Amino acid sequence: MTAVHAPGTPVIEDDRLISTSPATGAEAGRLPVATAEDVRRAVDRARAAGEWWAALGFGGRRERLLRWRGLLARRIEEIAELMHAEGGKPVADAVVEVASAVEHVDWAARNARRVLGPRRVRSRLVLAEFSAHLEYQPYGVVGVIGPWNYPVFTPIGSAAYALAAGNTVVLKPSEYTPAVGQWLVDTFAEVVPEQPVFTAVHGLGDVGAALCRSGADKVAFTGSSATARKVMTACAESLTPVLLEAGGKDAMIVDADADLDAAAEACVWGALTNAGQTCIGIERVYAVEPVFDAFVGKVVERAGRLTVGPDDADIGPITMPSQLDVIRRHIDDALSRGGRAVLGGADAVQPPYVRPTVLVDVPEDSAAVREETFGPTLTINRVRDADEAVDRANALPYGLGGSVFGRRRAVAIARRLRSGMASVNSALTFAGMSTLPFGGVGESGFGRIHGEDGLREFSRAKAITRRRARSMLASTTFERTPADVARLVKAIKVMYGR
Ligand code: NAD
Repeated sequence: MTAVHAPGTPVIEDDRLISTSPATGAEAGRLPVATAEDVRRAVDRARAAGEWWAALGFGGRRERLLRWRGLLARRIEEIAELMHAEGGKPVADAVVEVASAVEHVDWAARNARRVLGPRRVRSRLVLAEFSAHLEYQPYGVVGVIGPWNYPVFTPIGSAAYALAAGNTVVLKPSEYTPAVGQWLVDTFAEVVPEQPVFTAVHGLGDVGAALCRSGADKVAFTGSSATARKVMTACAESLTPVLLEAGGKDAMIVDADADLDAAAEACVWGALTNAGQTCIGIERVYAVEPVFDAFVGKVVERAGRLTVGPDDADIGPITMPSQLDVIRRHIDDALSRGGRAVLGGADAVQPPYVRPTVLVDVPEDSAAVREETFGPTLTINRVRDADEAVDRANALPYGLGGSVFGRRRAVAIARRLRSGMASVNSALTFAGMSTLPFGGVGESGFGRIHGEDGLREFSRAKAITRRRARSMLASTTFERTPADVARLVKAIKVMYGR
């Protein structure tokens, strides 16, 4: 039976969290709501399972994670359909998201031993009588708190790396997409049935807060900057380390020597994929004066061709009904302050959909330029040159990703962006590159998922020294003599006193 609720808004009935399609209101998921005690019990169970999981070693975990990767790849259509039903995301966007997540599971599984495994490191002359050994050990239980906009890619970006590093994971999926989160842990349990290594707890924000206070050994949060602050505050009580992947307002810079067709194509996709509900989505473009008009024309031509609606459309519904007001406010503010809509505009918001909207000449201090819009809208402003573009791009407290189109100076411009990531002559590409770290600066958070840094993020460095000979410069003992100390003084002066 399919109940119909207010589209998109999660409701709790009889201790069950019910998620619904933002397009139709059809029920998509019904999951038990966890109490704070349930959350603690889940973490305790995960801790016990962690002994078994850690004891499997890198090889055993790799084999099991690759089994899960295989399952995800084989059932990609099934999960994409569920993502569409629950979050409204077009199936094609969902497929692209899962494909990227599969790649991350594969890389994390295959590289954990190389990056984290025990190794000898060099000793220095001052302590040459000791050998040095380094390894990265798991934290224990990692609590992962996820958003709804990429309900597979974001939890996997933390969970796959945490699991490969030897942790167990308790996931608190977004209340907008709990069924997708449950699908992830259920399929993991199909391939790892022995112990509750990866489990989920469901509910609203209070359940996420309970996870922060549950005794988890680390919390990996992905969501808005406002909630990131609350997570960090809650975790501070117990000095629980946190990873924060928060919001963004990413810019694209189009330089004078850019391929404008390629730039427009990437801009339209980077800004409008997933109806613009992308943390690393392009929300602002700075195009240099000589190419501005041509670039805007090409963006409008491409964005104007996109279809909006349910099912097979390019742009689906806005997942969170409350976001429609934010999008409308940003468009209205931009227009009332002198910006012009060259596509879409004042009547673009038609709940639960928003038609693609391109705004030009928008004042830099307007909400559409400064705040995360999270809709299929885009501002394009003209700048004198790339230097001015960099200054404007860097003027916000956010700093997640970014994109640069150009030839001669593009990489140099990308380096100067105050962001954790950038794509040159494409958009959003860094997110799918499992060898590269992902994360932001400033209000976009800190810590890194993906790549070698992402594996280390979920492990503690463990340093061990081992004596291999008697000390020549016996200084770290009360058996030392004044002559030993004098020799140390002389040695330090010889080695470092220049
Ligand atoms: P949100 O902050 O509203 O919620 C995220 C999660 O936090 C949800 O599971 C929610 O239930 C939980 N939560 C709410 N209050 C909490 C509390 N007090 N303590 C602990 N957990 C709590 O964000 P959202 O609307 O789900 O996601 C959209 C936001 O996420 C956007 O700002 C987007 O930019 C950001 N995002 C960032 C990244 C990234 O990698 N940097 C990726 C995707 C989304």
